[in-house]
Amino acid sequence: MITIDGAMGEGGGQILRSSLALSLVTGKPFCMVNIRSRRKKVGLLGQHLAALKAAAEIGDARVQGGHIGSREVTFEPVKITPGEYAFATGTAGSAPLVLQTVLPALMTASAPARLVLEGGTHNQHSPPFDFLAKVFLPCIERMGPKIVCNLDRAGFYPAGGGRISVAIDPCQKLKGLYIPERGEIKKIVCTAMVSRLNPDIGHREIKVVRDSMNFPQECCEVIEIKNSPGPGNILVLEIVSENITEVITGFGKLGIPAEQVARTAVKALRQYLSAGVPVGIYLADQLLLPLVLAGEGSFRTLSPSRHTLTNIDVMKAFTETRIDCRPTQGAAWEISVNAMGETK
Ligand code: ATP
Repeated sequence: MITIDGAMGEGGGQILRSSLALSLVTGKPFCMVNIRSRRKKVGLLGQHLAALKAAAEIGDARVQGGHIGSREVTFEPVKITPGEYAFATGTAGSAPLVLQTVLPALMTASAPARLVLEGGTHNQHSPPFDFLAKVFLPCIERMGPKIVCNLDRAGFYPAGGGRISVAIDPCQKLKGLYIPERGEIKKIVCTAMVSRLNPDIGHREIKVVRDSMNFPQECCEVIEIKNSPGPGNILVLEIVSENITEVITGFGKLGIPAEQVARTAVKALRQYLSAGVPVGIYLADQLLLPLVLAGEGSFRTLSPSRHTLTNIDVMKAFTETRIDCRPTQGAAWEISVNAMGETK
């Protein structure tokens, strides 16, 4: 059995989710110790437990230590069963993160799957629905599977109550993905979403973006979300380029002025634009696992985050894949993945 130290590198929940995903696709059991030991509240929280339970259901896995606060988990998958599943993360736990845990197994399974995921859909520190639908899943589709993803209802922290429906048409052998260049930028779309709050928040965010970036009015929009149970606000900057679409998100938070939310997003946008790379900081850590499953691929990105470096170590614990990170020009780095033969 593979032992994973949850204290390695970044020491957060991603180590568990990547281990679950890799265990499902390789069939290898693992034991994880020191779960989330670099976080203030160590051990499994609701959203990590939701990912664990979803993975266990799909892989008919034997699980030990699956309870809130647990710092040690054993996971032994038996067999992937595609089909129809409904998972709830409890209040506002991130539904996209649960999807990303089970997707690798389902998108390479022998039959289609349909999922309904309830919880948070636009959470800070996780991929918001718009990133999932416009950035991550289109990259996955370039590797073979077909995935239709619908936002039935948005869910914001802390009320949650969102719902995402996903239909997965799998592809048993993934194609490698190569994204060396961003290509020409076609357009940048700026959308401020506001739920159960004064829409002026969205207009103030758009004003900051327009003033700082000189964006035309027709590329900017405020959307009032009517069907979400709780208040929430996010600012989505969608950069559509020849070879990829990236999304940068500003998360509204109680006590943080709208202008500050927008300024933080603009700073990240400028960093992405000036580096000239196709893949942003978050997509980089999320693409590693699909590339490892394909056994090949590469992309240019910004300097790898601690998340990315930690995720690489998790991939290496389950497979023989070689993953290289090297600086190229300016702020740009290249990450490449090569299979080194059979999995361990
Ligand atoms: P913990 O609670 O232990 O901090 P976690 O379970 O919330 O951990 P992280 O380990 O922080 O998870 O991983 C968060 C994941 O969400 C990463 O894969 C990261 O790329 C992704 N992510 C975070 N912010 C964004 C964002 N703004 N856009 C897209 N993806 C994001």
